[in-house]
Amino acid sequence: MTDAILYETPADQIARIVLNRPESRNAQDTGLLYALNAAFDRAAQDDAVKVIILAAAGPHFSSGHDLREGGDVASQMTGFDTVGTWCGFGCAGAEGRMAREKEIYLGFSERWRNIPKPTIAQVQGKCIAGGLMLAWPCDLIVAAEDAAFCDNTVGMGVAGVEYFAHPWELGPRKAKELLFTADWLSAVEAKALGMVNHVVPAADLATFTLALAQRIAAKPMFALKLAKEAVNAAEDAQGRVGAMTTAFALHQLAHSHNMQVHGMPVDPTGLQVRPKA
Ligand code: ZN
Repeated sequence: MTDAILYETPADQIARIVLNRPESRNAQDTGLLYALNAAFDRAAQDDAVKVIILAAAGPHFSSGHDLREGGDVASQMTGFDTVGTWCGFGCAGAEGRMAREKEIYLGFSERWRNIPKPTIAQVQGKCIAGGLMLAWPCDLIVAAEDAAFCDNTVGMGVAGVEYFAHPWELGPRKAKELLFTADWLSAVEAKALGMVNHVVPAADLATFTLALAQRIAAKPMFALKLAKEAVNAAEDAQGRVGAMTTAFALHQLAHSHNMQVHGMPVDPTGLQVRPKA
């Protein structure tokens, strides 16, 4: 088995974390997410690292959550040391599912968003649904020209991914269109909306992102940390946390509804709309 996450130091003061399941388009199973969280913790706690890049091996950034991960919630969480304060991962029904998703989806993404160091997502190819929950928590996003973004979860009977940052990333009107249609958002369009910082040729993606990271790393660490904290505080002053908490509760309601009506957490009648990565 190869490591699902690679940890690289491509230059002085820069850590590069790489999603490394290219054969499954970097689909996120529980193991990958815990390994990713451990890598972010390592970079955050290493005082020699000033900027963190999140990259992905293969043609696509991430196809989202790995829907092929079998077993019930309790078995999916077995063997992992949880990092949040929530509990009840072995509980039946909505209680166990909410615990799992609060830990590894909303919890992890929020945790990474609040790392007190600049983070840059380096995105090529498709970035679908749960993939957004890896790119959006990063401070900056550099996209290859072929990058495309999509949240197809409404078609699966839930109201958007667990880390519901859509209105802040896209503005309310475009957020609704993304959710209602599951249409692809191109890198160029994402840049025009302010979701992406730079669009570069695929061949230049890694070198451009590393150079950007190095320019940032030349600044004083404490000032970078405070600048990030100040911008994040501005988003939070707009009610981001409360709105995302509500969206997460609605997401859990949808899972519970689907379990009651369809016997599974998603609506199977909509699964065919899942785009090919
Ligand atoms: Zn969910």
